[in-house]
Amino acid sequence: MKIFRPVYVKEFKCDGKACGSRCCRDWRILVDRDTQEKYLRLPAAAREEFFSRFDESAQAFKMQRSGACPFLNENFLCKLQIKRGEDFLPAICQSFPRVTYKIGEEFFLQAMTLTCPVAAILILLRGEPLAFEIGEELKTRQIFDFTKRISSAEEFLTRQQAAIKILQRRDLSINRRLKLLCEFFGEKISEDVDFDEENHAAILAEIFGEMYDANLTVGKKNRLAETYLAHRKNILYQLRENFSDVLENYLVNEFFMRCYPCAFKADEKFNCRVFVATYRAIEFAAVLTAISRARLNVEDFLELLCALNDKMDHSRGGMEAIKNFAALHDTDVFYSIMIEN
Ligand code: SF4
Repeated sequence: MKIFRPVYVKEFKCDGKACGSRCCRDWRILVDRDTQEKYLRLPAAAREEFFSRFDESAQAFKMQRSGACPFLNENFLCKLQIKRGEDFLPAICQSFPRVTYKIGEEFFLQAMTLTCPVAAILILLRGEPLAFEIGEELKTRQIFDFTKRISSAEEFLTRQQAAIKILQRRDLSINRRLKLLCEFFGEKISEDVDFDEENHAAILAEIFGEMYDANLTVGKKNRLAETYLAHRKNILYQLRENFSDVLENYLVNEFFMRCYPCAFKADEKFNCRVFVATYRAIEFAAVLTAISRARLNVEDFLELLCALNDKMDHSRGGMEAIKNFAALHDTDVFYSIMIEN
């Protein structure tokens, strides 16, 4: 078995005290069939303890009023894990924050999601480019099977690593890296395409509204776009100056962790467009956050990236808006809106 992963995966240590057990609250914790069956085989009292906190219709735990998992103790530790060990956790709890894909017989990709604040710090603030290695132990029960999407694991890995090398070219600006990435995946961009700043802001305001399910009026979207336009150059300049390593590691982790350029069932070009547009949506939100807080320090930025990551995972509207935008425009229009030279 070969597991391609960033080196940080083996460095990660869950620390519920540091994060207030972030992953054990405010979400739906699904309980897979295998785990249910394990508990069904236990003695009556243990079964009762487990199933009295299980909502069969939702196939998930009944969360406490506070939003916490019913098995979270006062020391931010999991009672199921303490009592019965990792094997008796639902697959999602046992696996989080690892995200694992099967990409071929005996080939896997494994990374971590920024939704875990401890992983986010490890990934984004390491002060060096993300490095990769081949591991042999999977340590996870939740695996997304992408084998049907990927015809050759070796070829996919070669292309993915080549793309990551582009994203890690510190001799180039982030914009230039994104442009090269799109060209690498087959876009043919005319030399004379000018950046269309107004449409850029308008489209991002639209995506932002969908992402936050905000049902924004046209007037509100226009105001957001105007605010963004008035401040984007200045704030993005500061962002790229102060957090260029963080941005790079964010981009590399996203690319790898979502299994680009095969994240969506479409060609590499489309996947790359979605990747770029998603990153632009992050920039838009970062600019608005900096304006509303009158600052954007590293903690703010980390918090924002983690929250947006979460949004991307759960906002169907936001992803649909990005995918529609990526699908509907020809190369020059897409680039005039999403790539700034
Ligand atoms: S996995 Fe991450 S978010 Fe969950 S308890 Fe551990 S450190 Fe906290």
